[in-house]
Amino acid sequence: MTIDLHTHSYRSDGTDAPGDLVRAAGRQGLSVVALTDHDTTAGWVEAEQAAIDVGIDLVLGIEMSCRLPDRAGSVHLLAYRPDPDYRPLADELTRIVAGRDDRTPRILERLAEHGVDLTLADVQAVSGKASAAGRPHIADALVARGVVADRDEAFARFLGPGGPAYVPRYATPLPDALRLVAEAGGATVVAHPWSDHRYGEIDEDALGRLADLGLAGIEVDHRDHGPEARRRLRAIAGDLGLVVTGSSDYHGTGKVDHELGCETTAPEEYDALMARCDEAAAWAGRPAPGIVTSR
Ligand code: AMP
Ligand code: FE
Ligand code: FE
Ligand code: ZN
Repeated sequence: MTIDLHTHSYRSDGTDAPGDLVRAAGRQGLSVVALTDHDTTAGWVEAEQAAIDVGIDLVLGIEMSCRLPDRAGSVHLLAYRPDPDYRPLADELTRIVAGRDDRTPRILERLAEHGVDLTLADVQAVSGKASAAGRPHIADALVARGVVADRDEAFARFLGPGGPAYVPRYATPLPDALRLVAEAGGATVVAHPWSDHRYGEIDEDALGRLADLGLAGIEVDHRDHGPEARRRLRAIAGDLGLVVTGSSDYHGTGKVDHELGCETTAPEEYDALMARCDEAAAWAGRPAPGIVTSR
């Protein structure tokens, strides 16, 4: 069983159509794939249709832009199988996306101050299919203009934290996000908590507080985590009774070395996560979206 619970389509900053992503997962022999675009459910319907055609299990999710209540810096929260019609969650996603849209012109002003001419139309030309537009699209527009060679160079030279065109944006405080997803009948997993530049920053105490607030799991096996980070995070998950996931964080051609199925989740961990979703849906009295066909 190959289970990949974290991927992006062109509804956020991936490059594949949601249906193409699901079909590619099927061709590669994955048993389960989750679609987890940043801050939007816009790809869900198309992905569902493709999953029915292909006969693959599809877990519907969102990667929500969050922050620790007491710290700056973003934390990504994977929300699995929340009811997309739960109004307070839908409203919060709208607020995050509005924060993204507000930020784009401010990034363009910063770029102009540094002698880089890029217009909103340039960005929209590459982000046309996205409901959640972001820095990767600005990076793609910079590539199209010949300013940089790829997204990595755009983040390194301009867009990353500390870069000349870095502008922060709205993100949901994690306790609010955990509550909203639970009320929507979904289960949550903190995504790549120790990406290289923030190794150990969200420590065991912080993860324990999130577990107390309902966090179901930790994404341990991710390309951004080295062997030592994985070992320590796995131990913390064991101590806290959290599910351990592993996933590709596939972005199509938008991120190298993140191919579908390059990192995977163990079947028993997947079952535990789906049980958490079922419990949450029952507790919230909400329908659980998504297709789990073969199990
Ligand atoms: P945003 O959501 O607009 O704040 O941009 C953050 C997104 O940019 C993340 O979800 C990553 O997928 C992507 N990203 C961050 N750093 C890089 C990089 N060096 N190369 C390509 N994509 C990146
Ligand atoms: Fe992304
Ligand atoms: Fe992420
Ligand atoms: Zn992601």
